Amino acid sequence: MIMEKKIEYYDVVVIGGGPAGMTAALYAGRARLKTLLIEKSLIGGMATYTSEIENYPGFPDPIDGIALMKLFDKQFRRFGVDVKLTDVRSVSIECNAKVVSTFRCDYHAKAVVVSTGNKPRLTGGKNEEKFLNDKGISFCATCDAARNTDKRVMIIGSGDAAIEEGMFLSKFAREVIVSVIHDEGIMDANKVAQEKAMANHRMTFMWNTVVDSFEGDEMLKRVVLKNVKTGEMVPVDVDGCFLFIGYVPNTKIFEGFLDMTNRGYIKTNEDMETNQEGVYAVGDCREKTLRQVATAVGDGAIAGFIAEKYVEEIEYVQKEIFEAKGLVMAFVYNAVDGVDREYLSRVEQIQREYRDKVQLRRIDVYKSDRIACRLSYTATPSLIFMKEGVVLENITDLSNLDKKVAEVIAARG
Ligand SMILES: Cc1cc2nc3c(=O)[nH]c(=O)nc-3n(C[C@H](O)[C@H](O)[C@H](O)COP(=O)(O)OP(=O)(O)OC[C@H]3O[C@@H](n4cnc5c(N)ncnc54)[C@H](O)[C@@H]3O)c2cc1C
Repeated sequence: MIMEKKIEYYDVVVIGGGPAGMTAALYAGRARLKTLLIEKSLIGGMATYTSEIENYPGFPDPIDGIALMKLFDKQFRRFGVDVKLTDVRSVSIECNAKVVSTFRCDYHAKAVVVSTGNKPRLTGGKNEEKFLNDKGISFCATCDAARNTDKRVMIIGSGDAAIEEGMFLSKFAREVIVSVIHDEGIMDANKVAQEKAMANHRMTFMWNTVVDSFEGDEMLKRVVLKNVKTGEMVPVDVDGCFLFIGYVPNTKIFEGFLDMTNRGYIKTNEDMETNQEGVYAVGDCREKTLRQVATAVGDGAIAGFIAEKYVEEIEYVQKEIFEAKGLVMAFVYNAVDGVDREYLSRVEQIQREYRDKVQLRRIDVYKSDRIACRLSYTATPSLIFMKEGVVLENITDLSNLDKKVAEVIAARG
């Protein structure tokens, strides 16, 4: 039997419950929009992978990523946001509504915020897939440190995450071996982290190496490193291996729908708008320079704010213009332009004469450019006549205005 999909309606649907998504949901929920956040695994996202966040403002002492994300979680839920723990499979647009599809339900939304973040990059070494999912290869020191107490572990990578998480692991493991692709002494991590790591007696470095293969039976037992300079294979017995060699964006499901860079990051403008109207992308999944909690939060705040304006606009246009009864005369003008303002008072005067036959809507492009765009205006000032959602006349030459308005009302009123 084919199961009927449920349909639910929201103002805003946020896809992904990391710091960016939670912030967007907080702003949308606080603006009293009916908001849903969908997360496929753990609320908190990648920030829960780290034991110490030292650079998120407002926390002068380092805070554990899980603890920080719990505070985010508690805060956004205060504003009545619904949460579903499930995997979003696709987003599409049907008759102006954005449809966010999961296995059981189609969520129809006026605006969608994509905050799906990144996932860790794999090394491509032989047998890698075999040791994923709790079989010895890990991406999260915070999650797996305790089980490596007194063990020998390997870290692949030399960026901030690799070195800082390596130091955290060294509080548990008896030995942390770091495989670095660069020449001796060169790492990608920040200088402070490098210095601390070099002084850490539990950490050792294998320079000029990459992973050739992972070996073991059920569980990982050995990583075979290859020296990129000499080609020498170096087998290293370990109890676990942590990969910190960068990330790839979780954006596959948006291919063909959202514009992306060739590395799969979603392109946005500074208002977080994508190429699809009413669809925003925030946080690590979008093209940007710095991927951190602080920037994820900034993106989320902007998207939540812009989504609120967007929902307000489409509701206004729908109710006040497209669904208005009788003839509507929309005056599209620029309030900062003196000539436009003079025309406005003239138009208001004319409308008073015909108040029984035509309603006036004032649309200031300075404040509400998008509403004006929905009416397909071509210039300011202009007078657009509409009835039952259809544009009847678009008058851009406002000379002899009284006569022109009278003619339209006689013909269409
Ligand atoms: C080890 C490590 C250490 C770090 N240290 C720091 C630090 O010290 N300071 C700092 O500021 N930043 C740090 N970061 C970076 C920071 O965690 C990220 O920049 C931040 O989490 C990005 O937030 P986000 O919301 O954009 O994405 P994410 O946190 O990646 O959240 C995205 C969420 O979307 C979900 N999702 C993906 N696809 C779907 C789907 N189809 N349906 C439903 N849900 C989906 C994912 O499950 C995930 O929960 C660190 C990251 C790592 C990995």
